[in-house]
Amino acid sequence: MVKVFIDAGHGGSDPGAVGNGLKEKDITLKLAKCVEALLKEYHDVQTKMSRTGDTYPSLSDRTREANKWGADFLLSIHINAGGGNGYEDYVYPGSTKSIYYQNIIHAEIIKKIGKMVNRGKKQANYHVLRKSNMPSILTECGFIDNSSDAALLKQNAFIEGLAQGHVNGLVKAFGLKKKEGTEVAEQKLSDAQEKIRQEAMELGITDGNDPFRQVNQYYVWNALLPFARELAELKKKIK
Ligand SMILES: [Zn+2]
Repeated sequence: MVKVFIDAGHGGSDPGAVGNGLKEKDITLKLAKCVEALLKEYHDVQTKMSRTGDTYPSLSDRTREANKWGADFLLSIHINAGGGNGYEDYVYPGSTKSIYYQNIIHAEIIKKIGKMVNRGKKQANYHVLRKSNMPSILTECGFIDNSSDAALLKQNAFIEGLAQGHVNGLVKAFGLKKKEGTEVAEQKLSDAQEKIRQEAMELGITDGNDPFRQVNQYYVWNALLPFARELAELKKKIK
């Protein structure tokens, strides 16, 4: 059993970086929840979140929780700011174990960032990396104050891909096996289901991946929102 502690950076009174109408704390939570949902498709992996809502556990709360739980790995998710652009990740300076995981996870995430720039693998003396008793990585998933990075971060499909990259890295690093149920179900997409998938893709509701993945309420709202908005506009016009 592999225990992965997922830390969504910032939260509550601490929005983190802000820019282009986005708040870091919202994107990190969205990514963290997506990573957790995707990891549930694998055998022998347990997850724990540093937060599941808009709250602010302190940095020491987060590492204390991960240490107390006996996590095997800590993943801390952040969004960058300060005038650059692109993706980068950090491990504690000189931590051989963390560097081993960074090499694998970084490579998998890079496959999923599309047009976003790769800023490389880095090391830094950050609290969550220093105070966690297990190997750890902190990912900085694009710059919120950069308009092209922000445009990507506003797309559900990009967030999902990014989360999938994190998960693919963890799967590779820890040799996780996908639950058979998920695989079998995915293979058995009927003609009728495939038709629905195609139409949903054309209408921009989904990227069409993982048709049997469990979704949370947030995902449903986000998918329905554009259509609800359009309907509300139409109703106004009719009046
Ligand atoms: Zn941050």
